[in-house]
Amino acid sequence: MTTKYTRGSFQLMKSMNRSIILNMIREEGPISRAEIAKQTRLTPPTVSNIVKELINTQFVIETTQGMSKGGRKPTLLEINADQFYTLGIDVGTFHMKFVVTNLFGDLKDVTSLPIGNYPGNEDILSIMKQGIQELLYSGKNDPGKFLGIGVGMHGIVDPEEGVSLFAPSFQLRNIPIKEELEKDFNMIVKVENDARTMTLGEYWFGNGNDADNMVGVNVGNGIGAGMMIKGRLFHGENNIAGEIGHVTIDLSGPKCTCGNYGCLQTLAAGPAIADRARKELKTGKPSIIHELVDGDFEKVDGQVVYQAACEGDEFSIDLLNQTGRYLGIGLTNLIHTINPKRIIVGGGVSNAGDFLMKGIEETIQSRGLTDKAKETSIVLSKLGEHASAIGACVLVLEEFFVR
Ligand SMILES: [Zn+2]
Repeated sequence: MTTKYTRGSFQLMKSMNRSIILNMIREEGPISRAEIAKQTRLTPPTVSNIVKELINTQFVIETTQGMSKGGRKPTLLEINADQFYTLGIDVGTFHMKFVVTNLFGDLKDVTSLPIGNYPGNEDILSIMKQGIQELLYSGKNDPGKFLGIGVGMHGIVDPEEGVSLFAPSFQLRNIPIKEELEKDFNMIVKVENDARTMTLGEYWFGNGNDADNMVGVNVGNGIGAGMMIKGRLFHGENNIAGEIGHVTIDLSGPKCTCGNYGCLQTLAAGPAIADRARKELKTGKPSIIHELVDGDFEKVDGQVVYQAACEGDEFSIDLLNQTGRYLGIGLTNLIHTINPKRIIVGGGVSNAGDFLMKGIEETIQSRGLTDKAKETSIVLSKLGEHASAIGACVLVLEEFFVR
């Protein structure tokens, strides 16, 4: 298998052995050539040849920090973490977030651009290009260091073609992201659903590192799940797998943007929290939210409810607990469907983590089928607001490292 990409002096011959060695150095470095040969069961000459190539391409450097029992210190290998960067994009409903990370997923640069109302396909692509240009050519980062661009896009994505098939927040279809960005920037471009990139980011650099079977749930303006099964993202037959925002929770619930009633995201996503708060506040329920928004209910959003809860507002705390119970039903369905080791909750709404967690845990405790089901670990995202964008960077890293 070879890739067609050539960047400067850096030509990539994709080889499985090379990726495995590279990943071993990433996860276990500093590590000696002998130890790599032992663990991979490759012959020492094979390891030596591949390591030589990795050093030539500057992915790996030698270090002599190793301990030795007498004799000279062994030469160890480690990842040249800051030699290469990747650029990740998280396309939300109102903003596009851009991050630059090194080979260890450490943030090196971030920026964000607003997405106006009712954007067209062209607008989405042009905002993407603007953000990429800003990070590549602002003078702060050396454009020659970049291995590629990853994009986490909400909605249904075809990762093979790199096309956003349907972005419900914009009501847009068939945005040729990969084709357009490759044309303009001449580097690897990978596109994936944002909940899946979040899950991938947590699997590589966050709270999912030890869990080959896990789910990342992205709770923001909508709700989506990335399902990792045996260390691989699961897409289903037509890339719809994980659309748990549209799992029906209440047959007579509110109408969803998808046309159905009582979908999980009509009860637990950011706009749902705001809608429920508004409706109840209008009936005159006491809450400090009335003061926080100066009586203007239009200003009520998830953030305000969270702020009020932090200030001890009973109304807001109850509302977030209730939201947690709805989420808990969605997560219980996930547990019973794919039985993950862990579920990681991320996205904007997860900022209200502590208030949600109580409701989530209570629900799973009361509804879980077995003790093992009830024990499923539920944690908040470690990578936080940048999880989807960092995970988008991993899409590029996956081209080089095999886990
Ligand atoms: Zn729906």
